[in-house]
Parts: sequence; C-alpha cells; structure tokens
Amino acid sequence: MSFESLWGDLAPVGRQAGGGYFRQPFGSAEREAVAWFVEAAQARGLAVTGDGFGNLRATWQAGSGPAVLTGSHLDSVLDGGAYDGPLGVASALAAIDMLRDRGFSPSRPISVAVFVEEEGSRFPTACLGSRLATGAVDLDRAATIRDADGVSVLDAMADAGLDPSAGSDLLNEVGCFVELHVEQGRTLVHRDAAIGVAECIWPHGRWRFDFTGEANHAGATAMADRRDPMLSYAMTALAANKQARLADLSRATFGRVEVTPNGTNAIPSRVTGWLDARSASEEVLAQMVAAITAQAADRAGRDGTAVAVTPESVSAAVDFDTGLAARIAGPHGWPVIGSQAGHDAGILQQAGIATAMLFVRNPTGVSHSPAESAELVDCLAGVGALADTLALLAGDPP
Ligand SMILES: [Zn+2]
Repeated sequence: MSFESLWGDLAPVGRQAGGGYFRQPFGSAEREAVAWFVEAAQARGLAVTGDGFGNLRATWQAGSGPAVLTGSHLDSVLDGGAYDGPLGVASALAAIDMLRDRGFSPSRPISVAVFVEEEGSRFPTACLGSRLATGAVDLDRAATIRDADGVSVLDAMADAGLDPSAGSDLLNEVGCFVELHVEQGRTLVHRDAAIGVAECIWPHGRWRFDFTGEANHAGATAMADRRDPMLSYAMTALAANKQARLADLSRATFGRVEVTPNGTNAIPSRVTGWLDARSASEEVLAQMVAAITAQAADRAGRDGTAVAVTPESVSAAVDFDTGLAARIAGPHGWPVIGSQAGHDAGILQQAGIATAMLFVRNPTGVSHSPAESAELVDCLAGVGALADTLALLAGDPP
C-alpha cells in the first residue's frame, strides 16, 4: 500500500492542465516535490542530508561502511510524464518500507538519493547535480553554465539557499548505486518482462547549431536576394533525420528551435536549433554528427548564411558494472538490456561507483511526454525487485 500512497501524494505536484508535468530545477513545482520527499523520508525516520548543490540523501542508518544508494530525480522536462525520475524515488521509499516489513536488518546504510537537474530542462547540461557531486563538472565550469535568462547554475543554487562551495560527500559515503527507472522504450514489452536490468547507456549529446543570415522584409525582399537561416536550419533538420536512419542503431532529433526576431513577416536573422544525437557506439555517433554538420555547412554556403556548431554536453558510452548486473538479474532471470537515455547512474558509474539500473516496463515506450506510463502491477513488481536488490547489496556478505 505504501507505494500507492506515496505515488498518490506526489502525482499532483507540477501537473499541468493538459496532464503533462513541468518540474524545473529550483522552480516552485520541483521544490514542492522535494518537500514531499523530505516529509516522506522523515516520516520513515530516515536521516535527510543535502550537499552544496541540492542533491539530497535520505539514509536508513544501519551497520557500517559505505552506503548502498538508490533513488533517482524529481525534475522533469517541459510537458513531461509522471514516471521519469519520480518512479525511482517513490519506489525506493516503498522498498525500504517493504524491507522493514520483512524484518530485514541491513549490514550497511541504505540511502535514497534525489539528484537535482537531471533533465537539463533549465541549464544546458543533463545530469548536472550528479556531475557536480562527482566532480565531473567543477565549480569553474559550473559558473559558465547559464539558463535562458543568463542566470548561472551557481547563482540559482545560492538563490535556493544552497552553498555550492560546500561540495558533496557522495563519493566518500556511497559504495554502490542502483537506480530504478521507467523504461524509455519497448524492449521489455518485446521481452514480455515487467523488470529488466540495464547493462549500458548509449553515448549521446547535445549540439547547438547557430545559423545566421540577414533579417529583411518578407514581402519586399526578392527570393534571390535572401540570406535566410531558416532554410539552412530546415535542411539540417532533414539531414539529421536522414543520417540517423542511415547510421546503425542511432537517433538524431531537433526538438528545440529559437528564431530571431520570430516575426511572421520577417526573414529571420538567426535560427538556433539544438541537435540531440545518440548511437550505440561512439564512433558511429561522431560520424553521424560530423555528417550532419557537413551538410549544414554546405547548405549554409548555398543560402549565403553561416553556421556555428557548439557541443553543449557530450556523454561517452557507459558500461554499467557487469558483475553487479549479473548478480542482480541472475537469480530472477530478469533480461539485461541497454538504455538509449542518459541517467545519473551513468555519471556515478563513470565516477567509479559500481552502478546498476532496474527498468520497469513501459507499455507504449513513450517517455518525456504526458503519455509516459507504467501499469500499477509493474510498478509494484519494481518495488519488490528493488527491495530484493537492496537486500542483496546491503545484507551480510556472502
Ligand atoms: Zn530520468
């Protein structure tokens, strides 16, 4: 019952009229979700601590040694779904309830994490909270990371009452991490399994394409006299689609665009589009982005425009701890699958923490959309799977 009540309390937070969610880091909805977490953790007698960046941990103090960490994130993309992130946090609290109901006595602490700014919906770097906590992004670099209003992530944290210079104890206090997450795809549907274990995260990244031309009147400017960056952008979006279809196991998306001056009767002076690209291998990803960039430059030359391409965040392939994945999946026969989406788990694995992920089946595979879903019975299976996994990792050594 505990999962249903946790989920029911969190569900309205940040839900918009159309059913989608928007919990942007340090905004009111995300802070309300964080307050929900603190209250739920304290109601369970868990010790809630935070680092200088706003990452939280709620710890079941027990035994000795580094903690077994679980949890996920509570922020969402713009018009996102209910499950991406929050499912891992609510399931973690419910799994602790289940372990206590079973009379389980941990040999080491069990912590539930909430990482800030996982989605990169406000600042142009995904998994920013875990990157800061592990040192993958240092304070000098963080000072240059700004939101659309020019506010640096460090100032946003200070405005939220945090002290980024205080750093994080994460690497000192955590021994391993298991993040439960709704699957963002349909592999588990095809495998007819409610639960899966991730073995890797595809390399992926975001590239900003700035196309510049010449603003002019939409009526008075002859077609031959134009330097229209919208045309260069439009062809690049088509090129990205084509290159991803030609490449092996790849994705390329322009999902965000900004137009200046953005007037119906004006040829734009500037069009900025953001490319999200992913691939099963780093080599294929690099080749694909290079091919898209070359086509953009070629088209810009013909349009009399210019294009500048800036990588905003590029994440290498992550192989999760294979021994840990096998240990978790083996006794249950859970399928071991890949992830096309980035996660804080990838950042922790790269920082040297043995990390695994549990995925819960998503019937449509849709994610980052209000249609994202999971059946309650599968969510409950996820809680049970996480409880079994935490018992395995926090129990007596074999
Ligand atoms: Zn997520």
